[in-house]
Amino acid sequence: MTGKDGHGVAARQRRGVQVRGVVQGVGFRPFVYRLALEEGLGGFIGNDTDGVTMELEGTPLQVEAFLARLRAEAPPLARIDAVGVQPLEATGECEFRIVLSRVKGQVSTGIPADAATCEDCLRELLDPQDRRYRYPFLNCTNCGPRFTITRSIPYDRPQTSMAAFAMCAACQAEYDDPGSRRFHAQPNACRECGPRVWLESPEGVAMEAEGPVAETVERLLAGQVLAIKGIGGFHLSVDATNEAAVMRLRERKHRYGKPLAVMVRDVEAARELCVLSAEEEALLQTAARPIVLARARAGCGIAPVVAPGIPWLGVFLPYAPLQHLLFADARVQALVMTSANLSEEPIAIENEEARARLGSIADAFLMHDREILQRCDDSVAAVVEGAPQMVRRARGFVPLAVELPLEAPQLLAVGGHLKSVFALARGRWAFQSQHLGDLESATGLEFFKESLDHLMRTFEVEPQTVVHDLHPGYLSTAWAKGWAAERGLPLLAVQHHHAHVAGCMAEHGLEGPVIGLALDGTGYGTDGCVWGGEVLLCRLEGFERFAHLENVPMPGGEAAIREPWRMALGYLHAAGMDVTDERTRALVGASEREGQWMRRMMERSVNAPLTSSCGRLFDAVAAVVLRRRTVDYEAQAAIELEGLAVDEPDAPGYAMELAGGDGERREPLRLRTGGMWIELLEDVRAGVSGERVSARFHAGVADGFVRAAVRARAMTGATQVAMSGGCMHNRRLVRLLREGLKREGFEVYQHRNVSPGDGGLSYGQAAVAAAMLRGGS
Ligand SMILES: [Zn+2]
Ligand SMILES: [Zn+2]
Repeated sequence: MTGKDGHGVAARQRRGVQVRGVVQGVGFRPFVYRLALEEGLGGFIGNDTDGVTMELEGTPLQVEAFLARLRAEAPPLARIDAVGVQPLEATGECEFRIVLSRVKGQVSTGIPADAATCEDCLRELLDPQDRRYRYPFLNCTNCGPRFTITRSIPYDRPQTSMAAFAMCAACQAEYDDPGSRRFHAQPNACRECGPRVWLESPEGVAMEAEGPVAETVERLLAGQVLAIKGIGGFHLSVDATNEAAVMRLRERKHRYGKPLAVMVRDVEAARELCVLSAEEEALLQTAARPIVLARARAGCGIAPVVAPGIPWLGVFLPYAPLQHLLFADARVQALVMTSANLSEEPIAIENEEARARLGSIADAFLMHDREILQRCDDSVAAVVEGAPQMVRRARGFVPLAVELPLEAPQLLAVGGHLKSVFALARGRWAFQSQHLGDLESATGLEFFKESLDHLMRTFEVEPQTVVHDLHPGYLSTAWAKGWAAERGLPLLAVQHHHAHVAGCMAEHGLEGPVIGLALDGTGYGTDGCVWGGEVLLCRLEGFERFAHLENVPMPGGEAAIREPWRMALGYLHAAGMDVTDERTRALVGASEREGQWMRRMMERSVNAPLTSSCGRLFDAVAAVVLRRRTVDYEAQAAIELEGLAVDEPDAPGYAMELAGGDGERREPLRLRTGGMWIELLEDVRAGVSGERVSARFHAGVADGFVRAAVRARAMTGATQVAMSGGCMHNRRLVRLLREGLKREGFEVYQHRNVSPGDGGLSYGQAAVAAAMLRGGS
């Protein structure tokens, strides 16, 4: 179809074009403007409800060339999900213009995620001839802070913490020029008009120094602890090659075991610290710049106390100009950059807050006067079986939406307990909050409420239903009940492991039935027990418990999570051993008194809840193999057990027995571990290496669950397996499960954009709720 040809030249046509995806606040309009000029098109572009709308007028060849280049040359931060094209009547328009107000619709597509300094800005930062030479806040439409500096929608400068800085004439000219890389770059700034940095003492006194960045470098190299204000919060930083400095930071922060993230100059430097696959290198260099968990090289020069007891290192690259400036000094090799907080409290963001909370930790503060409006920790990711997988989804990813496989009514899913993340849903989209940490910490719940208010406004979601975990004791459950009651909203409770598996299904558009493997730490079961080693037959809207690890007592309840030796005695007791026996106690270094105490709790079923948790099984084995009595951070024992076997070849697994399932009543099958423990203890007593015991244990667990999946398929015909739960961070376990399942002919699915751990729970809850509410009941 062509337009009118009134003048005898090539027929001009007009097309309406809608682009959906991440196309606002990422330099898309100036990109289209430039493209339209180059192709000689008339028309306009403007933002609309779900993306951008444009009208183009020119010859068919010009229009075709434009549409081909639109996808091929889109700006780095843009993500085009769909392009719709309709014919329109030609009007003779030859000029192309950018429409600054929204062309139609009320609802905004929200705020972009924060993005690392782009190559062009980095070049300017280090170019002595450039007017932004060494200016720590330069940015452009292709990079810079977004989510963390924005108070509310629309994403425009007056709504950001850049509102406090009036642009100088030079910056304003760039901002107004559609041909500039800084056209409508909301945080645009320079040394004349923008934010500034300074160094101050823990007493809050500004320090006179030649240059605050140079002085910071000197202090870091001298072994001091620096608090450095970043993009989503403050970091605490020390020289990562200086053992004494890292210990000083740990002592002041009262955090001894937890691995610390290390920032290095560039990917070459990362390669010197870690053995990196192509996928890991790509992940390190994405605009989100997550911390990537990778295999550390022996003797790489990083102080051993940075990541004690494990063969991995969390590495990441500079993502803010200020960080690049620290590394511009060639003497700076690697810096510990850890969230500035105490234990599990939210990261500090305000200058006053940092002075108050970090005064006893930091020797000096590198401050700046651009306010951080949204707290956002660094994201953590890993490459698992060749593809990136989220561990902690925060800076650089939030608030990007994750698609749901079905239409959701407006709802709020509050997630879990530790590693709290909530999700808002509307239509086909779920908006997950940043990682919020432990709700029970002093300020955790405040952070949850702040972030909820902000994201409800940003995405214009007014929840009509509130979804929570089945656990009556979760703070998030109690909070959800109160919040829903105030608003007269209905509540939906979703079982923990159902939500885990549903999240994986939803990411892959699976409706079910699938065989869900939920291997996890703890989650409240429908029978009141603590679940976590589950084979579930799942649809989005419901599930049936097909099989699980056999129940064993957790002597001392929660205390058994912090003290894995208790869990080992729980397992040995369940396997029929007398845990007061000297030989048994010696396996975990328990005293006679401790053995008697544990036995009494278990025999009387007092403070010894039953659990089928896979995480606890890993803890118990780690207590025996590594003699780890207590843990400093969640899943430490299991992570160390995995790390122990990292170079060990695969070995035959300890046998797990699949029992039950043949009676009249359809009881779940049980994966029994008694035989496994007998074989494992024989190996330990025979002096078999811990590496090999760990390898055999991993193989046994994987094999047990693969056999359970085969039984589930035989009974139901389901051939798809969705894997979820915190244990899916264990790469060896995931590899063995995948290999085993594929050998048996299953289709295997893993999480990608959403964490398999409790950080992904709210997305799964949203998917379950959307399915349950389908049909407008
Ligand atoms: Zn840039
Ligand atoms: Zn300026």
